[in-house]
Amino acid sequence: MRDMAAGPRVLLRRLRELMAEALEPQERLDRIVREIASNMVAEVCSLYVLRADSILELYATEGLNPGSVHLAQLKLGQGLVGTIAASARALNLSDAQKHPAFAYLPETGEEIYNSFLGVPVLRAGRTLGVLVVQNRTMRQYRDDEVEALETIAMVIAEMIATGDLARLTRPGLELDLSRPVSFVGLPLNDGVGLGHVVLHEPRIVVTNLFNEDTDTELERLGEALGSLRLSIDDMLSRRDVAFEGEHREVLEAYRMFANDRGWIRRLEEAVRNGLTAEAAVEKVQSDMRARMLHMTDPYLRERMSDFDDLANRLLRQLMGRGPEVLAALMNRDAIVVARQMGAAELLDYPRDKLRGLVLEEGAVTSHVVIVARAMGIPVTGQMKGVVSMSENGDAIIVDGEEGRVHLRPQADVEAAYAEKVRFRARRQELYRELRDKPSETKDGVHIDLMMNAGLAVDLPQLTEAGAAGIGLFRTELQFMVAATFPRAEAQERLYRDVLEAAGRKPVTFRTIDIGGDKVLPYFKGAGQEENPALGWRAIRLTLDRPGLLRTQIRALLKAAGGRELRVMLPMVTELSEIDAARDIFDREVRHLARFGHHLPTSFKLGAMLEVPSLLWQLDELMAKVDFVSVGSNDLFQFVTASDRGNTLLADRFTPLSVPFLRLLRQVARAGVAHATPVTLCGEMAGRPLPAMALLGVGFRSISMSPAAIGPVKAMLRDLPLGTLTRVLDDALDTTAEHADIRALLSGFADQHGVSL
Ligand code: PEP
Ligand code: MG
Repeated sequence: MRDMAAGPRVLLRRLRELMAEALEPQERLDRIVREIASNMVAEVCSLYVLRADSILELYATEGLNPGSVHLAQLKLGQGLVGTIAASARALNLSDAQKHPAFAYLPETGEEIYNSFLGVPVLRAGRTLGVLVVQNRTMRQYRDDEVEALETIAMVIAEMIATGDLARLTRPGLELDLSRPVSFVGLPLNDGVGLGHVVLHEPRIVVTNLFNEDTDTELERLGEALGSLRLSIDDMLSRRDVAFEGEHREVLEAYRMFANDRGWIRRLEEAVRNGLTAEAAVEKVQSDMRARMLHMTDPYLRERMSDFDDLANRLLRQLMGRGPEVLAALMNRDAIVVARQMGAAELLDYPRDKLRGLVLEEGAVTSHVVIVARAMGIPVTGQMKGVVSMSENGDAIIVDGEEGRVHLRPQADVEAAYAEKVRFRARRQELYRELRDKPSETKDGVHIDLMMNAGLAVDLPQLTEAGAAGIGLFRTELQFMVAATFPRAEAQERLYRDVLEAAGRKPVTFRTIDIGGDKVLPYFKGAGQEENPALGWRAIRLTLDRPGLLRTQIRALLKAAGGRELRVMLPMVTELSEIDAARDIFDREVRHLARFGHHLPTSFKLGAMLEVPSLLWQLDELMAKVDFVSVGSNDLFQFVTASDRGNTLLADRFTPLSVPFLRLLRQVARAGVAHATPVTLCGEMAGRPLPAMALLGVGFRSISMSPAAIGPVKAMLRDLPLGTLTRVLDDALDTTAEHADIRALLSGFADQHGVSL
């Protein structure tokens, strides 16, 4: 073999030319193997491709019997080629026939060759085939030769992945890449989406590893870094609601990293060592990733993943995968497939084309999931292997109801889902028609249907869902999606946007409810608690860190200048906590008044009823506050002593029980007695049957996720509330504790034609 130092560079250039030529796929392959053989001074070069039935089929050869192409086959794990494919490792043998795995394929005529070098054709860790060179002489291939063949295999992987070889397959013998695959994971947001894969981080196989001119390459790197910074600045300067508040902090962290001298220096060094700009980014990024693996501090890990994110953006810039290319990729219904992604990145995708999000990692509390939920797109998580199995453009179905994904689905699966989507769309259409109809029961009782929100992206839903207002604005979400504590101005800006979007509709802001399962990676205050749900959280935490609460209260007061401000406190346990919070409000009002600020026209302070201790001081509570909002998620978990996130207990107890409904009725009645408005904003309010129970025990205002408003409204417009109240009262007053209230309610619905 000739000296390989310049070999791969020359060969890669030749391959690039061959790719660009207008050739039939078979001819292109034939010429590629010929080119490799001649460049590597090998007598044989063959390519085997893995089919969906786990058979490796000979697709092209130089040197073996040409008649055996598409006939010679090996099972995965069989022979040397099968071993390489199964283990995803190269085999370098001077006397191949002595290897225990050697399997002789008579049709190929390979018996005269002794030395053998085979490398797996890999893409993102997945084997697509095997590339082999053989020589008659018994020789050991050098390391640089192995590396060269591996580099070439990367190019071939790209060819296979882009579908160039699909035309060479016979019916029933498709490539492994086009096999239908289903995944089961976590349902993270309801809904069903059909579309085509858009890989969030399109796998960029860096084929030109070696730069030809260092200066030009440094220039490219500089330009890409420049436009990366510009695009971040551009996003930061946009007065786009979606980029306000919660995403601003993330973008600001990106800007800081994009100007990080250490990072830029390492990139430049790698280019000077002979790599192309993109190979340099990949190298520096993977060095970083390797180091990141050993980090335990959650804050630093979060920062490293921002860095990772940024490196990917840069790579996309270099490879021409800027936002424009992304938009072009998304000219069909798009389902974004990602290992994980930053919350801000999801907002780069055009909302009108986005049909779903599939995450290989991802959990209920991931920031990107919170944002996706706010955008109302179906999401599934914990889909192991989905990224490496997917290719851009593959058909895909995401089922956020069941937590399933079907990649390259068969026709019958696709048809079943298309029907499901049509069914859901018809229902949505019905709900849309209800939007402008009065929110009144059949017997004319008005019910306020409010929505829960927490991010700027939620706001358009206010009109789309036809909510009467925002019954719960979870202000902690802005803190949860940010990289650091949102500054006072950022808080004020978000609150102002919320109030502007709401217009004349009321908005109830809840002061930050962190602690428990809502952790801020950058907040070091809370230590490891044994029982975080019962721990230092919500109002307990903010009263101990008055600076935090003061900043938020000031931002709220300023944002609500000239209109009503409604604020409620989470997890109140003792009435003195309300007094303490009110003192802070009063002090801030005086402070702002002294400096001539425009103040809210009125201020209403409410308490959330989540901790059972308040149940035995309802009269005092109602007298003290302007309104009460029952947080049934927390109240139920404390009343029944069952962790709300524990799946083992998920169906064990029900809020539709006599004691819990009696308790809720007592709260609603206390509200009426004191003329203190009472509402409920937990998940109960968002499902038609439990919502029906809430109306039955006396609630006239409930707050839920925007998507729930349609179904709940459909239910209540059919509901004879007076009759239901009598039936329910009767059951709660006379029935034994174990009575099945759910059955009672669904029987009532059936009997009275109430749609559930
Ligand atoms: C609740 O506890 O019911 C509630 C609405 O608050 P969160 O779900 O944010 O704890
Ligand atoms: Mg709560």
